This record gives sequence, structure tokens and C-alpha cells, in this order.
Amino acid sequence: MDKSLLSKSLLGASFTLLVVGAGLLLWPTSWQSNAPVAQSSPTRQSAGPIADKADVPSPEHLQERNQPQTLQSTTALLQAGDSLSRTLNRLGVNNRQIAELLQVDEEQVLSSLKPGQRLTAEILTPANDLQRLTLSETREQSHVFTQTDQGFRYQLQITPMETLLAYKEVVIQNSLFVDGVNAGLSDKLLAQVTDIFRWDIDFALDVRKGDRFALLFEEKYIDGEKVATGNIIAAQFVNNGRVFEAIRYQAGERTDYFTRDGLSLRRAFIRSPVDFTRVSSQFNPNRLHPIFKTTRPHQGVDYAAPTNTPVQSAGDGKVSFVGEMKGYGNTVIIDHGQGYTTLYAHLNGFTDNLIAGRNVSQGETIAYVGQTGWATGPHLHYEFRINGAYKNPETVDIPYDSPMSKEELMAFLPYAQILSKRLRGSHSRGFSEYLARLDR
Ligand SMILES: [Zn+2]
Repeated sequence: MDKSLLSKSLLGASFTLLVVGAGLLLWPTSWQSNAPVAQSSPTRQSAGPIADKADVPSPEHLQERNQPQTLQSTTALLQAGDSLSRTLNRLGVNNRQIAELLQVDEEQVLSSLKPGQRLTAEILTPANDLQRLTLSETREQSHVFTQTDQGFRYQLQITPMETLLAYKEVVIQNSLFVDGVNAGLSDKLLAQVTDIFRWDIDFALDVRKGDRFALLFEEKYIDGEKVATGNIIAAQFVNNGRVFEAIRYQAGERTDYFTRDGLSLRRAFIRSPVDFTRVSSQFNPNRLHPIFKTTRPHQGVDYAAPTNTPVQSAGDGKVSFVGEMKGYGNTVIIDHGQGYTTLYAHLNGFTDNLIAGRNVSQGETIAYVGQTGWATGPHLHYEFRINGAYKNPETVDIPYDSPMSKEELMAFLPYAQILSKRLRGSHSRGFSEYLARLDR
């Protein structure tokens, strides 16, 4: 409606007669929906200039000549136990059309409704004629039944999800999670941060005020609306002046995080294979034994932990011993290949089916903390050997996980350079200056 027409219509008393109900009408199409007058007669619309009062038909006359049809859209969120016919009846779909829908439902999406799905019926009223039925399975995927001259037509509708890279940086004042959430990052994303850098940073003990991190991560959009966050693609963490960088990359079968130089952030061994409360006895080749009061080397490290705390395999390997050993009590030994073995002693028990010869993977629970054998309290005695020589588990150089092949590395390096550049290009001035000061 043009402005002059609108102002005239507001002045014309005859106009109020033409308002015959609310709702989105299929006609007339040229009127703006936000106009103060909801609808008018077709005569007025086609006539152009405002007609005389005498030319305006009465509302009753209008109904007869041209029954106004409203397209009403109603949505039902499916609950457990909702049946198709009952739900469609509730939405106003008649039984004849339900039967027609079922005839074309070859994928049987309507006959296998699930709680959480949404059914939207668009019905022309008062004719009570279903125009379109939409079953929304997810935000991305819908099943659409549209009325045509040949009955209903089924269509699977996929709404493409757009993935964009977002950037965030956080300076830690309280804790990684508190400051991260305040910066608008989700718990899930923050858990990814600790997971990526856990090999280099002990997040329970090492993180301090002033540490900071920067992330490039995926955000998923549908029709311009953010619906999810995805993976961290590149990240930097500055811990106590040490800068760590991680780039997500698929090398062969595995997707993992790598340094800019292509080293896996993941190590071949977990540093401490139990969630311990404290180190109750250090590795010490000249220790005075607490029970025998003689100089007996302590060939491992003791981690105090409550009885039955799970003990994990420090790395991938094969069980070479399960059972009781004098002094050690219940013990597991794992052979990791290439000369590496680990030993776990004073265990309260083993996981089911843990037998010699079985393969175990890094982080897999193999046993539970106890105090069997010569032990003064519940703890895990843990040994780390390379080619038979005892090493201090707390300080031994732990090798990186299996490196990339030469071909993978050739493909990775230029990719990593681009992402690293993009990450640095996104830094705030404060973040860049902080990094520059560390470099000096
Ligand atoms: Zn010990």
C-alpha cells in the first residue's frame, strides 16, 4: 500500500466496514501485512484510487463472492506414545487426507514417528484442506508432503549447515572454565582445550593467573542462525610463559592435534596412570625401605589413592603378566614394544578378562588401587622400564605418539602454516604483544 493511500484509508470512515477478521489471508497480496487495515475488498484493490462509499460492498456480500481462505500453520512436538492419526487430527487434518498421506509415505517416516520430532500442518481454512505437512526430524532434515494436482508429493528436505570459523581468546583470571564460559565458550569446547593440551599441561596444577589461550573453532549455522559449535581447528595455550600450539589434522585414519612442525601432541604414554591424591614415595635408587629399614632402591613411584581407584594402562600394549608377585602383591606388567614396559603393583584387583597376551589401549582401565603385598597403605606402585632399565616415571622422556609419514608431513606443513597464520592474524593487540614479550 502506498503512503498516500494509507493516509486516506485512515481518514475514510467507510474502511472500518471492510475488516472481516484477522489472520494471514491468501488475498489480497499487494497489501502490506503491517498496514493498520488488515484487508480490503478486491474491488478497492483493483480500482486503485479510493472509491466512493456507495461502491463498497458489505462484508456479507464479500463472503459469498469470494470466501477468504486462511492458511493456518500448527505445529505439534511429538511426545512418547503419540499416534500419527491422533496427532494429525489434533492439528486439524481430516481422515481422508491422512489416508492419502500414508499412501505416498513410501519411506514410512509417518508410520515411525519418534518423540522429539515436530509435525507442522499447513491447512487452508475454512475449507479444511491440508496443503503441506512437514515432519522435522532434526534441524537439518525434514520430510515434506505437499499437495499437488496428483495428490500429495513426498520430498526429503535437507537444510544445508554452514560451517564458519570463529575466533576467541581468553586470559585466565579465575580458572579456565570460569573465564572460558564468561567469554562465551561452551563447556564442551573448553573440555576440548584441556584434552588437546593435557600432554603438556597439568590442568589441575599448572594453570595460573595470566595464562591465556586463543582458539579457532567451527560454528555451524542454519539459515544464518548458530545451531552448534564443532571442533577446535587451531589453538594456542600460553602456560607460565610456555607457548603451545595445536593444529587439528587428519593423518591417514586418525584425526589428531599436531604441532606446527607435525609432531603429535599426544604422547605414547600417560605420565601418571592413576588419578592420585599425592605422590607418597618418589623414585629413589638409594631409598631406605619403610618396612625393612635397609637401603633398598625404590624403582618406581608411589601414587597414594583410595582403594579401588581405577588404574589405566599408560600406553597401548600387550599384557605380559597378571597375578601375584612377592612383595608387589597383585601386579600387572604391560609390554609396549620397542623395549618399553610398565608395571603396576599392590592392586586390589584386576578388570574382568585381563589375561596375559591380551592387547590393551592407552587409558584403558586394567586394575584397581589396593595395598596387597608389602604396602603400608592403599597406593599404586608404578614402574617404567626401557630395555630393562628402571626410569623415573615422573621425569622420563616420554616419546611422541607414532609420527606422520613423510607424505603426510608434506601435505600437513603448508596447511598448518595457513592456519597458524590465521590464528595469529586474529589475535588482539594485547595477545600479540604478550606473545612478542615472551619471544624476547
Ligand atoms: Zn613403591
